[in-house]
Amino acid sequence: MASPATTLSPAPTKVAHPQFAFFEGQIVPIEDAKVSVMTHALHYGTSCFAGIRAYWNNQKEQLYVFRVRDHYRRFLQSCRLLMIDLPYSADDMVNITLDLIRHEEYREDIYIRPLAYKSFKGIGVRLHNLPGDFTLFTLPFGKYIENESGCHATVSSFRRVDDNAIPARGKLGGSYVNSAFAKTEAEMAGFDEAIVLTEEGHVSEGSASNLFIVRDGVAITPPITENILEGITRRTITQVLREDMGVPVVERPIDHSELYVCDEAFFCGTGVQLSVITRISHRPVGDGTTGPIAAELRDRYFDIVRGANDKYLHWCTPVY
Ligand code: PMP
Repeated sequence: MASPATTLSPAPTKVAHPQFAFFEGQIVPIEDAKVSVMTHALHYGTSCFAGIRAYWNNQKEQLYVFRVRDHYRRFLQSCRLLMIDLPYSADDMVNITLDLIRHEEYREDIYIRPLAYKSFKGIGVRLHNLPGDFTLFTLPFGKYIENESGCHATVSSFRRVDDNAIPARGKLGGSYVNSAFAKTEAEMAGFDEAIVLTEEGHVSEGSASNLFIVRDGVAITPPITENILEGITRRTITQVLREDMGVPVVERPIDHSELYVCDEAFFCGTGVQLSVITRISHRPVGDGTTGPIAAELRDRYFDIVRGANDKYLHWCTPVY
């Protein structure tokens, strides 16, 4: 059996640097987008965010933002959970995003990071009666997981935060401490990614992605009641599997041990895109190589996000 090819995520020496941010109601130079050390969100994790990708299509000379409205709809739900009232609708934020990207004049793949946060400067743990604000920046962006086509995952000893502790269906800043524990534990043990279980011991998701397994030609993914983020990629993939590939998709709890008997497994998310898991805790998934369903799905996914599939072009918002 091959040994894991993992290296730790590198310390961020040279981070790609945007020129601008949307901050306190306007587009400003990135150097001017700064919050106080007293900011509530910095202390208590009272922020929520989105992670959106835009893909450069060389043939069409166009940059397409993928499912941007759906991301902002979920973002507003996260704001609602945290009682952050923004003066923007989803469509307003789409327009702000397009405007900001045009300022940067990108002609490459990028990542978009909207953030809503409790901007109150002071002490006091609570959600109510605190001001909130919205900020946004963008970055050139490639792969999130180094090993996108042969990911070696392990089952984390950290359980997923429960809905009655910190709801995972919100993309809430504080809950990413849970993800960070799982990711670091996995990487420090020589794996690429963590698979996190619920308190009941069912499969929930990756540290920053949803998960599918394939058994006997059926794709299976945990339902939204298993403390997962309600992923937009998960929805995309479910639709493509069902409508375009004729693969049935079942949403049901997945037992821990199913990870060791499934034929295929993959993570999906805006960041990880579609990362095929070829080993779980040193055991091969299926025959230990990319399976046929994941392989076809990956090709279809990248065509769709890059604006090369007319059926789904309505999910791709052109920037220019
Ligand atoms: N779960 C978690 C915990 C995540 O951070 C992400 C990435 N946003 C996902 C799932 C996948 O969500 P999406 O497909 O909407 O990016």
